[in-house]
Amino acid sequence: MFDRFWGILVSLVIATLGGSQVLAQQYPTKVITMVVPFSAGGPTDTVARLLSHAMGATLKQQIIVENVAGAGGTIAPARVAKATPDGYTILIHHIGMSTAPALYRKLPYKPLEEFEPIGLINEVPMTFVARKDFPPKDPKELIAYVKANKDKVTYANAGLGAASHLCGMLFMSAIQTDLTTVPYKGTGPAMNDLLGGQVDFMCDQTTNTTSQIKAGKIKVYAVTTKTRVPSLPNVPTLQESGLTNFEVSIWHGLYGPKGTPKPVIATLTKALQVALKDATVKRRFAELGTEPVAEKRATPDALRSHLKSEIEKWGPIIKKAGVYAD
Ligand code: ASP
Repeated sequence: MFDRFWGILVSLVIATLGGSQVLAQQYPTKVITMVVPFSAGGPTDTVARLLSHAMGATLKQQIIVENVAGAGGTIAPARVAKATPDGYTILIHHIGMSTAPALYRKLPYKPLEEFEPIGLINEVPMTFVARKDFPPKDPKELIAYVKANKDKVTYANAGLGAASHLCGMLFMSAIQTDLTTVPYKGTGPAMNDLLGGQVDFMCDQTTNTTSQIKAGKIKVYAVTTKTRVPSLPNVPTLQESGLTNFEVSIWHGLYGPKGTPKPVIATLTKALQVALKDATVKRRFAELGTEPVAEKRATPDALRSHLKSEIEKWGPIIKKAGVYAD
C-alpha cells in the first residue's frame, strides 16, 4: 500500500515537472560514453582519457572512452549526432569539427546544428617530426629535402579532416609541393610506424609527440605556433625557419547530441571546468605541451562561437587549397 502511494506520487511529480527534467536532476545514474573520433593512443584519445577520469570523479559515474575511428574523424560525430540526447553519449573532437564541412561534400552531420556544445577543453601546438634516421637535420633542410624528393617522401596523417591532415596540407601549400600521404585511423598508429621507420614524417600534436621527442626516439624539426612551446624550448617555430605565414594550433571541444537537456549540459560543463583545474590533468597537460582553456571558455557559448568562427576561418583556406573528399 505504502509502495503504491510512493509510486503514484513519483509518477505525479514526473508528470508535473516533465520526465526529462526529473531525469536531468538525477543525472548521471549510469555509465557515460565519451566517443573519440580517432584510434587509441593518439592525441585526442590522450586528452579524452585524462578528462574522462577527472570528470567521472566529479560526476561520481564512470565515463568510458570509445574509439570510433575512421574517415578522418567524421564517423564518430555522425554517430553521436544520432545518439539519444540524454547526456550518456558525448563527443570529444578537435579542430576537425570546423574543417570537415569544407573538406567533405557529403558530410553526414551539421556541426553547428546537430550538437549541444559543452565547452572548449584545451589548445595544443603541433610539431613536425620524423623517423629518427630521416636525413634532413633542420627545418630548412627538411623543406629542401621534401621538395627535392617529393616522389619518395611519405607523410603520415589521420585522414582527411584530421589535424595532421590540415597541418600537412598547409605545409605542402606553403612550400608548393605535393607529397605521398599515408592515412591512418589516428596518429597513435601513425606514431608506431614512424617509430618503426615505415613512414618518413608527420605533423602531430605535442600531446602525442613530446614523450617520443624527449626520449630521442624521433626527430623534431619545428613547432607550428607563433612562439616556441615552453615544454620544448629548444625547438624552433616554423616561422623562424622562413615559413612566415605558417601557424596552426589545435583545440578540442566536448559536445552532446542536439536536444540534450540544458541541466544535463550544465552538469557536464561544470564537471569539465572542475577537471581542467584538477592537479593531475594540469600536470599532464603541461608535460604534454598543451594548455587547458580558461574557465570562461570551457562553456557552451564559448565553444559555439569558437566553432562558428573556426568554420568561417578554415572554409575559404580549404576551398582555396582545393582539397575535397567525396
Ligand atoms: N587528432 C589526431 C589528428 O587529427 C589524430 C588522433 O587523435 O589520433 O591527426
